[in-house]
Amino acid sequence: MNKTIRVTVWNEFLHEKQNPEIAKIYPEGIHGAIAKYLGSKPEFKVKTATLEMPEHGLTDEVLNNTDVLIWWGHMAHDRVSDAVVDKIYRRITDGGMGLIVLHSGHYSKIFRRLMGTSCGLRWREAGEKERLWVVSPGHPITAGLSEYFEIEHTEMYGEYFDIPTPDQLVFISWFQGGEVFRSGCCFHRGRGKIFYFRPGHESFPIFHHPIVLKVIENAARWAAPVDGPRPPTIVGAPNVKPLEKLQ
Ligand code: ZN
Repeated sequence: MNKTIRVTVWNEFLHEKQNPEIAKIYPEGIHGAIAKYLGSKPEFKVKTATLEMPEHGLTDEVLNNTDVLIWWGHMAHDRVSDAVVDKIYRRITDGGMGLIVLHSGHYSKIFRRLMGTSCGLRWREAGEKERLWVVSPGHPITAGLSEYFEIEHTEMYGEYFDIPTPDQLVFISWFQGGEVFRSGCCFHRGRGKIFYFRPGHESFPIFHHPIVLKVIENAARWAAPVDGPRPPTIVGAPNVKPLEKLQ
């Protein structure tokens, strides 16, 4: 029996409230669609949190009881409080919480802070086709997948994507218009694992796509903490006694 993975799905939840066309695609919000899917798997215990809740729904109590945080934001990255971002950062690097950053979350404060780069990219909203190729067969995030999968209509994200070289690159996208993009990127920061996953524009039903949901499920499993050692550098740079007698 696998250990329960406690997931919190965070969404800024503004597009769905402000645009009836988007509300039609996600009547329970993007967070609701992802939470519903993950919640149908016995292994996951799922909560949701949104921007306009007190502390964005990410109180100490919630963060300390979250193994994996899933992040969707787009139009209000600057409304996320720096104090909450600091807490998420520490919970990842020190506490080992996993983070899955979706689509336009590439520009979120937490992702940029973890990457240390601009996280800029090029884009086009033409509803074109995307083909995502698996470039790390055998990686746990690819469990149950074929060599590639397709999204019929999506927004394009193209290189250059200004991120540090990922620790593992899992997917590369090809777009009908000719661009390519590193669409599934794994990073380690302290005790925490981070997965950036590109699909997810709000005006397309991407979070109803079975393979997209499957990848998020696999990523949540991969990103869950492993309860390993706590690196000393997170709380300072301690001067230490030798483990063996020296001379
Ligand atoms: Zn988008």
